[in-house]
Amino acid sequence: MEISSLRLNILLLAALFVLFVAPVHAQTVNYVVFVLDNTLYAHALHGADLRVLSPMYPGLENTLPQTTDSTNQVQRSPVQPDERFGFYQGIWSPDRRQFVYIQIQFPVYQLKLYSEDQSKILLESEISAQRGYLVPLGWKRDGGILLLERYMLYNLKNAVRIWQINPRDGELKPYANTSIAQLHGQSMTLGERAFLGFDVENHLGYWFDFESGQFSTFESALTFPESSVFEVFPVRILGIVTSSELVELLNQLTSSTAVPPVYPAAFLYWPLPTSERQVTCYPDSPFTQARHEITCPALGREYPGHEGTDIGSLPLDTPVYAAAPGIVVDINSDCDTDNPSCGRAYGNYITLEHSLAVDGAIQTWYTGYAHLNNVSVTPWEIIADLALPIGTSGSTGEGGPHLHFEVRYPHQNGPERWVDPWGEPSLWLGGSAMPTASK
Ligand SMILES: [Zn+2]
Repeated sequence: MEISSLRLNILLLAALFVLFVAPVHAQTVNYVVFVLDNTLYAHALHGADLRVLSPMYPGLENTLPQTTDSTNQVQRSPVQPDERFGFYQGIWSPDRRQFVYIQIQFPVYQLKLYSEDQSKILLESEISAQRGYLVPLGWKRDGGILLLERYMLYNLKNAVRIWQINPRDGELKPYANTSIAQLHGQSMTLGERAFLGFDVENHLGYWFDFESGQFSTFESALTFPESSVFEVFPVRILGIVTSSELVELLNQLTSSTAVPPVYPAAFLYWPLPTSERQVTCYPDSPFTQARHEITCPALGREYPGHEGTDIGSLPLDTPVYAAAPGIVVDINSDCDTDNPSCGRAYGNYITLEHSLAVDGAIQTWYTGYAHLNNVSVTPWEIIADLALPIGTSGSTGEGGPHLHFEVRYPHQNGPERWVDPWGEPSLWLGGSAMPTASK
């Protein structure tokens, strides 16, 4: 799929028309700029005003003006993360003399304070099922630093929990919290408040005010396309801009070319015991075709919409392992065998999120495991020991006894949201022909 430059031009013209012809507000209007599904968007930070700016292309984030004191981009940070860590987010103090940031090497994270050319560790911890990563949110007037607790790196589920740390003595205490359905996007600081994300289900955007400790909402026009079970749709926030900066940005958007995703080094282990390697079905992938004699007895070669590897001939309750260290972000364990539509045909399943430090930044990948008989993990559980099964194979949902294994990298600059791990370069440790087993 190629996005035509004509369509892009029409989008740009439409956006410029809206910007110039729309009535001028007396006060500055701020927009949060973000990437969703390989498209660059801007959403006003009050009112349901969503603009499609451009297809996403590499380097676009570096041209973005910067209204905010927070950044999620390692290129815009005054510090490089330590070796092996990836930079996640950092915020300048109001006087711009100090920069507080989090660097992650899953499951370890460090909260560090940079000032006068030196960085010191404020907090070092591991993400756990009890407490997530504590990500810098903003600075209070009294010098306290507010931290937002996260499990998934691009979504918040069920609750917003905010902590406060004193940078002088390291004292950490709860500051504010509220219940939510699900928020999408990282936080972005603007003065004494922070944008927390979009509640897509309820059409709201969320703000948090540092001094009052209050949450507030504004109307949002953001909607998502219908997603499959393992499709997470992370909203990657790039920054906050003023309306005039948005015009500048639109002028700089030039072209869009489809480029292949930047992959990390191979990181996936085979999710089954070494003996169980019968790949039975796959979408029409030339890579898989070349490596495996594929037969899809029930389904035939044409299998539109199928986005994973099926491994068959599995005895019931074959152990299933995580393909990489990660965190459990979704499970379904409600399905009995003999109900093909249960779990949207995926039966019982597990979704894991994987945070990889690549070139100083964090890449977020997802893997999915479907048609399970047993699910032996719970949400927010950290999977660090790959020798322990996360569940067992079964035949819940559709397709008989097999494991459906799916890989997703939603930030890639390409038309597809799912990834063929057998492709070039291979993501399998040990190589595509015979990936290394977890156990
Ligand atoms: Zn499948």
